[in-house]
Amino acid sequence: MRAFRVGGLVAAAGLCGAILAIGLPGCSSGQPAFKEPPVRVVVTTTMIADLVKRVGGDRVTVETLMGPGVDPHRYLPSLDDRKKIEAAHLVFFNGLHLEGKMTDTFEKSRGRVRGHAVTDAIDRSLLRHADVDGGEHDPHVWFDVALWSRCVAPVKDALVALDPAGKDTYEKNAADHLKELDALDKEVRAELATVPPAKRKLVTSHDAFGYFGRAYGFEVRGLQGVSTASESGTKDVKELVDYLGANKIPAVFTETSVPDAGLKTVLDTCLRDHQHAVKLIGGADALYSDALGEPGTPGATYVGMIRHNVSVIVNALR
Ligand SMILES: [Zn+2]
Repeated sequence: MRAFRVGGLVAAAGLCGAILAIGLPGCSSGQPAFKEPPVRVVVTTTMIADLVKRVGGDRVTVETLMGPGVDPHRYLPSLDDRKKIEAAHLVFFNGLHLEGKMTDTFEKSRGRVRGHAVTDAIDRSLLRHADVDGGEHDPHVWFDVALWSRCVAPVKDALVALDPAGKDTYEKNAADHLKELDALDKEVRAELATVPPAKRKLVTSHDAFGYFGRAYGFEVRGLQGVSTASESGTKDVKELVDYLGANKIPAVFTETSVPDAGLKTVLDTCLRDHQHAVKLIGGADALYSDALGEPGTPGATYVGMIRHNVSVIVNALR
Protein backbone atom coordinates (compact mmCIF):
# COMPACT_ATOMS: atom_id res chain seq x y z
CA MET A 1 0.00 0.00 0.00
CA ARG A 2 1.16 3.50 -0.69
CA ALA A 3 1.23 6.00 2.11
CA PHE A 4 -0.34 9.34 1.44
CA ARG A 5 2.94 11.10 1.75
CA VAL A 6 3.65 9.82 -1.75
CA GLY A 7 1.02 12.03 -3.27
CA GLY A 8 1.68 11.27 -6.94
CA LEU A 9 1.48 7.52 -6.49
CA VAL A 10 -1.81 7.83 -4.71
CA ALA A 11 -3.25 9.60 -7.71
CA ALA A 12 -1.78 6.87 -9.90
CA ALA A 13 -3.58 4.27 -7.82
CA GLY A 14 -6.82 5.64 -9.21
CA LEU A 15 -8.23 6.52 -5.83
CA CYS A 16 -10.20 9.60 -5.29
CA GLY A 17 -8.75 13.00 -4.75
CA ALA A 18 -9.57 14.82 -1.57
CA ILE A 19 -9.96 12.00 0.90
CA LEU A 20 -6.64 10.56 -0.15
CA ALA A 21 -4.68 13.75 -0.16
CA ILE A 22 -3.77 13.58 3.49
CA GLY A 23 -0.06 13.82 3.18
CA LEU A 24 2.17 15.38 0.62
CA PRO A 25 5.95 15.09 0.50
CA GLY A 26 7.88 17.43 2.71
CA CYS A 27 5.06 18.95 4.70
CA SER A 28 4.83 16.81 7.81
CA SER A 29 4.52 19.17 10.71
CA GLY A 30 1.66 18.17 13.01
CA GLN A 31 1.88 14.42 13.59
CA PRO A 32 4.12 13.18 16.41
CA ALA A 33 7.31 11.29 15.61
CA PHE A 34 7.27 7.64 16.59
CA LYS A 35 9.97 6.57 19.06
CA GLU A 36 8.87 3.35 20.75
CA PRO A 37 5.70 1.24 21.15
CA PRO A 38 2.87 1.50 21.55
CA VAL A 39 2.14 2.83 18.09
CA ARG A 40 -0.86 5.11 18.50
CA VAL A 41 -3.30 4.28 15.72
CA VAL A 42 -6.57 5.99 14.87
CA VAL A 43 -9.04 4.18 12.60
CA THR A 44 -12.44 5.12 11.24
CA THR A 45 -14.47 1.88 11.43
CA THR A 46 -14.68 -1.06 13.84
CA MET A 47 -13.75 -3.54 11.09
CA ILE A 48 -10.48 -1.72 10.54
CA ALA A 49 -9.92 -1.50 14.31
CA ASP A 50 -10.18 -5.28 14.55
CA LEU A 51 -7.77 -5.74 11.64
CA VAL A 52 -5.16 -3.36 13.10
CA LYS A 53 -5.42 -4.98 16.56
CA ARG A 54 -4.91 -8.41 15.05
CA VAL A 55 -1.82 -7.36 13.11
CA GLY A 56 -0.43 -4.88 15.65
CA GLY A 57 -0.99 -6.96 18.79
CA ASP A 58 0.59 -5.51 21.92
CA ARG A 59 2.66 -3.02 19.98
CA VAL A 60 -0.32 -0.80 19.08
CA THR A 61 -3.15 1.08 20.74
CA VAL A 62 -6.18 1.63 18.56
CA GLU A 63 -8.74 4.40 18.81
CA THR A 64 -11.91 4.03 16.71
CA LEU A 65 -13.79 7.11 15.56
CA MET A 66 -16.99 5.31 14.48
CA GLY A 67 -18.07 2.79 17.11
CA PRO A 68 -20.61 -0.07 17.06
CA GLY A 69 -23.87 0.82 15.33
CA VAL A 70 -22.45 3.94 13.68
CA ASP A 71 -23.16 4.52 9.99
CA PRO A 72 -19.92 5.61 8.29
CA HIS A 73 -21.68 7.05 5.22
CA ARG A 74 -23.38 9.69 7.35
CA TYR A 75 -20.78 10.14 10.07
CA LEU A 76 -19.87 13.76 10.68
CA PRO A 77 -16.44 14.08 12.29
CA SER A 78 -15.99 16.39 15.26
CA LEU A 79 -13.19 18.81 16.01
CA ASP A 80 -12.07 16.26 18.59
CA ASP A 81 -11.79 13.61 15.87
CA ARG A 82 -9.50 15.88 13.90
CA LYS A 83 -7.30 16.36 16.98
CA LYS A 84 -7.15 12.58 17.49
CA ILE A 85 -6.15 12.08 13.87
CA GLU A 86 -3.36 14.60 14.15
CA ALA A 87 -2.11 13.17 17.46
CA ALA A 88 -1.86 9.61 16.09
CA HIS A 89 1.26 7.99 14.71
CA LEU A 90 -0.78 6.26 12.01
CA VAL A 91 -4.30 6.60 10.61
CA PHE A 92 -6.15 3.82 8.77
CA PHE A 93 -9.44 4.25 7.02
CA ASN A 94 -11.46 2.27 4.49
CA GLY A 95 -11.32 4.62 1.52
CA LEU A 96 -13.52 4.17 -1.59
CA HIS A 97 -15.66 7.00 -0.15
CA LEU A 98 -17.07 4.86 2.66
CA GLU A 99 -16.35 7.73 5.03
CA GLY A 100 -18.19 10.14 2.76
CA LYS A 101 -18.41 13.09 5.09
CA MET A 102 -14.85 12.85 6.44
CA THR A 103 -13.32 14.09 3.21
CA ASP A 104 -13.14 17.59 4.62
CA THR A 105 -11.45 16.43 7.82
CA PHE A 106 -8.79 14.52 5.94
CA GLU A 107 -8.34 17.50 3.67
CA LYS A 108 -7.76 19.77 6.67
CA SER A 109 -5.15 17.30 7.96
CA ARG A 110 -3.28 17.49 4.69
CA GLY A 111 0.44 17.10 5.22
CA ARG A 112 0.07 16.46 8.93
CA VAL A 113 -0.86 12.78 9.21
CA ARG A 114 0.33 9.44 7.87
CA GLY A 115 -2.93 8.14 6.47
CA HIS A 116 -3.60 4.84 4.73
CA ALA A 117 -6.71 3.58 3.01
CA VAL A 118 -6.75 -0.18 3.73
CA THR A 119 -8.49 -0.84 0.40
CA ASP A 120 -5.68 0.87 -1.51
CA ALA A 121 -3.89 -2.40 -2.26
CA ILE A 122 -6.93 -4.08 -3.82
CA ASP A 123 -6.66 -4.25 -7.58
CA ARG A 124 -9.31 -1.93 -9.02
CA SER A 125 -10.50 -4.68 -11.36
CA LEU A 126 -11.72 -6.62 -8.31
CA LEU A 127 -13.95 -3.79 -7.11
CA ARG A 128 -17.64 -3.46 -7.89
CA HIS A 129 -18.64 -0.31 -9.68
CA ALA A 130 -21.07 1.95 -7.85
CA ASP A 131 -21.79 5.66 -7.59
CA VAL A 132 -21.20 6.39 -3.95
CA ASP A 133 -20.77 9.83 -2.43
CA GLY A 134 -18.53 11.01 -5.24
CA GLY A 135 -16.67 7.72 -5.65
CA GLU A 136 -17.00 5.07 -8.33
CA HIS A 137 -16.61 1.82 -6.37
CA ASP A 138 -18.62 -0.06 -3.77
CA PRO A 139 -16.68 0.39 -0.50
CA HIS A 140 -18.13 -2.63 1.40
CA VAL A 141 -15.23 -4.96 0.59
CA TRP A 142 -15.25 -6.66 4.03
CA PHE A 143 -18.26 -8.80 3.09
CA ASP A 144 -16.12 -10.92 0.79
CA VAL A 145 -13.72 -12.52 3.26
CA ALA A 146 -11.11 -13.29 0.60
CA LEU A 147 -11.21 -9.70 -0.64
CA TRP A 148 -10.92 -8.31 2.90
CA SER A 149 -7.86 -10.49 3.49
CA ARG A 150 -6.10 -8.33 0.89
CA CYS A 151 -6.26 -5.48 3.40
CA VAL A 152 -4.02 -7.31 5.88
CA ALA A 153 -0.71 -6.75 4.06
CA PRO A 154 -1.10 -2.96 3.74
CA VAL A 155 -1.68 -2.65 7.48
CA LYS A 156 1.32 -4.86 8.22
CA ASP A 157 3.53 -2.91 5.77
CA ALA A 158 2.59 0.46 7.28
CA LEU A 159 3.32 -0.79 10.81
CA VAL A 160 6.67 -2.29 9.78
CA ALA A 161 7.66 0.93 8.00
CA LEU A 162 6.96 2.99 11.11
CA ASP A 163 8.18 0.49 13.71
CA PRO A 164 10.84 -1.75 12.09
CA ALA A 165 11.78 -3.29 15.47
CA GLY A 166 8.35 -4.98 15.48
CA LYS A 167 8.76 -6.51 12.01
CA ASP A 168 8.79 -10.16 13.18
CA THR A 169 5.74 -9.64 15.38
CA TYR A 170 3.74 -7.88 12.67
CA GLU A 171 4.66 -10.49 10.08
CA LYS A 172 3.72 -13.39 12.32
CA ASN A 173 0.44 -11.77 13.38
CA ALA A 174 -0.44 -10.96 9.77
CA ALA A 175 0.30 -14.54 8.66
CA ASP A 176 -1.80 -15.94 11.52
CA HIS A 177 -4.71 -13.66 10.67
CA LEU A 178 -4.54 -14.55 6.98
CA LYS A 179 -4.76 -18.24 7.90
CA GLU A 180 -7.78 -17.51 10.09
CA LEU A 181 -9.48 -15.55 7.30
CA ASP A 182 -8.80 -18.30 4.79
CA ALA A 183 -10.42 -20.85 7.12
CA LEU A 184 -13.34 -18.49 7.69
CA ASP A 185 -13.91 -18.09 3.95
CA LYS A 186 -14.09 -21.87 3.52
CA GLU A 187 -16.41 -22.24 6.53
CA VAL A 188 -18.74 -19.53 5.21
CA ARG A 189 -18.87 -21.09 1.74
CA ALA A 190 -19.78 -24.46 3.17
CA GLU A 191 -22.52 -23.04 5.38
CA LEU A 192 -24.06 -20.83 2.70
CA ALA A 193 -24.05 -23.72 0.25
CA THR A 194 -26.75 -25.34 2.40
CA VAL A 195 -29.22 -22.67 1.23
CA PRO A 196 -30.92 -23.94 -1.96
CA PRO A 197 -29.85 -21.77 -4.95
CA ALA A 198 -33.44 -20.58 -5.60
CA LYS A 199 -33.62 -19.20 -2.06
CA ARG A 200 -30.38 -17.25 -2.21
CA LYS A 201 -31.99 -13.81 -2.24
CA LEU A 202 -30.75 -11.38 0.37
CA VAL A 203 -32.76 -8.19 0.98
CA THR A 204 -31.42 -5.59 3.43
CA SER A 205 -31.81 -1.91 4.37
CA HIS A 206 -29.00 -0.66 2.14
CA ASP A 207 -26.82 -2.11 -0.58
CA ALA A 208 -23.93 -3.18 1.64
CA PHE A 209 -23.90 -6.83 0.58
CA GLY A 210 -22.92 -6.64 -3.09
CA TYR A 211 -19.51 -8.25 -2.52
CA PHE A 212 -21.14 -10.88 -0.30
CA GLY A 213 -23.56 -11.74 -3.10
CA ARG A 214 -20.83 -11.87 -5.72
CA ALA A 215 -18.54 -14.03 -3.59
CA TYR A 216 -21.10 -16.48 -2.26
CA GLY A 217 -23.71 -16.67 -5.00
CA PHE A 218 -26.57 -14.60 -3.58
CA GLU A 219 -28.82 -12.16 -5.39
CA VAL A 220 -28.76 -9.00 -3.29
CA ARG A 221 -31.17 -6.08 -3.01
CA GLY A 222 -31.17 -3.07 -0.68
CA LEU A 223 -33.87 -0.50 -0.08
CA GLN A 224 -31.33 2.28 -0.09
CA GLY A 225 -28.36 2.45 -2.42
CA VAL A 226 -24.72 1.68 -1.74
CA SER A 227 -24.56 4.75 0.49
CA THR A 228 -27.21 5.56 3.10
CA ALA A 229 -26.59 9.27 2.49
CA SER A 230 -29.50 9.40 0.04
CA GLU A 231 -32.97 8.38 1.25
CA SER A 232 -35.06 5.80 -0.54
CA GLY A 233 -38.02 7.13 -2.58
CA THR A 234 -41.46 5.80 -3.52
CA LYS A 235 -40.00 4.17 -6.64
CA ASP A 236 -37.40 2.27 -4.56
CA VAL A 237 -40.13 1.05 -2.21
CA LYS A 238 -42.37 -0.11 -5.07
CA GLU A 239 -39.55 -1.93 -6.85
CA LEU A 240 -38.55 -3.77 -3.70
CA VAL A 241 -42.16 -4.60 -2.82
CA ASP A 242 -42.70 -6.10 -6.28
CA TYR A 243 -39.45 -8.05 -6.03
CA LEU A 244 -40.45 -9.53 -2.67
CA GLY A 245 -43.95 -10.35 -3.90
CA ALA A 246 -42.89 -11.84 -7.24
CA ASN A 247 -40.19 -14.04 -5.69
CA LYS A 248 -42.20 -14.92 -2.56
CA ILE A 249 -39.19 -14.00 -0.45
CA PRO A 250 -39.73 -15.17 3.16
CA ALA A 251 -37.55 -12.70 5.06
CA VAL A 252 -35.68 -9.40 4.87
CA PHE A 253 -32.91 -8.26 7.17
CA THR A 254 -32.40 -5.11 9.21
CA GLU A 255 -28.91 -3.78 9.84
CA THR A 256 -27.45 -2.64 13.14
CA SER A 257 -26.19 0.65 11.72
CA VAL A 258 -29.28 1.65 9.69
CA PRO A 259 -32.82 2.53 10.96
CA ASP A 260 -35.43 -0.09 9.95
CA ALA A 261 -38.45 2.20 9.40
CA GLY A 262 -38.03 2.05 5.61
CA LEU A 263 -38.10 -1.74 5.54
CA LYS A 264 -41.22 -1.81 7.71
CA THR A 265 -43.03 0.33 5.14
CA VAL A 266 -41.92 -2.10 2.43
CA LEU A 267 -43.30 -5.10 4.32
CA ASP A 268 -46.64 -3.38 5.04
CA THR A 269 -46.98 -2.46 1.38
CA CYS A 270 -46.05 -5.98 0.28
CA LEU A 271 -48.77 -7.47 2.46
CA ARG A 272 -51.33 -4.96 1.14
CA ASP A 273 -50.42 -5.18 -2.57
CA HIS A 274 -49.31 -8.80 -2.90
CA GLN A 275 -50.96 -10.46 0.11
CA HIS A 276 -47.49 -11.76 0.86
CA ALA A 277 -46.20 -11.60 4.45
CA VAL A 278 -42.46 -11.17 4.79
CA LYS A 279 -40.66 -11.66 8.09
CA LEU A 280 -38.47 -8.81 9.35
CA ILE A 281 -35.29 -10.25 10.83
CA GLY A 282 -34.00 -7.79 13.42
CA GLY A 283 -33.27 -7.25 17.09
CA ALA A 284 -30.48 -9.57 18.20
CA ASP A 285 -30.56 -11.09 14.70
CA ALA A 286 -30.01 -7.81 12.84
CA LEU A 287 -27.12 -8.09 10.41
CA TYR A 288 -23.91 -6.24 11.09
CA SER A 289 -23.29 -4.24 7.96
CA ASP A 290 -21.07 -1.18 8.28
CA ALA A 291 -20.04 -1.62 11.92
CA LEU A 292 -19.20 -4.49 14.26
CA GLY A 293 -21.14 -5.24 17.44
CA GLU A 294 -20.70 -3.93 20.96
CA PRO A 295 -17.81 -5.39 22.97
CA GLY A 296 -18.85 -8.71 24.49
CA THR A 297 -21.38 -9.56 21.75
CA PRO A 298 -20.74 -12.26 19.11
CA GLY A 299 -20.33 -9.55 16.49
CA ALA A 300 -17.59 -7.66 18.30
CA THR A 301 -14.83 -9.03 16.06
CA TYR A 302 -14.65 -9.30 12.29
CA VAL A 303 -14.70 -13.10 12.38
CA GLY A 304 -17.60 -13.07 14.86
CA MET A 305 -19.53 -10.58 12.74
CA ILE A 306 -19.23 -12.70 9.60
CA ARG A 307 -20.26 -15.86 11.50
CA HIS A 308 -23.26 -14.08 13.04
CA ASN A 309 -24.45 -12.75 9.68
CA VAL A 310 -24.05 -16.07 7.90
CA SER A 311 -25.82 -17.99 10.63
CA VAL A 312 -28.76 -15.53 10.63
CA ILE A 313 -29.02 -15.57 6.82
CA VAL A 314 -28.90 -19.35 6.59
CA ASN A 315 -31.49 -19.84 9.34
CA ALA A 316 -33.93 -17.37 7.80
CA LEU A 317 -33.66 -18.43 4.16
CA ARG A 318 -32.93 -22.16 4.19
ZN1 LIG B 1 -22.75 0.97 3.77
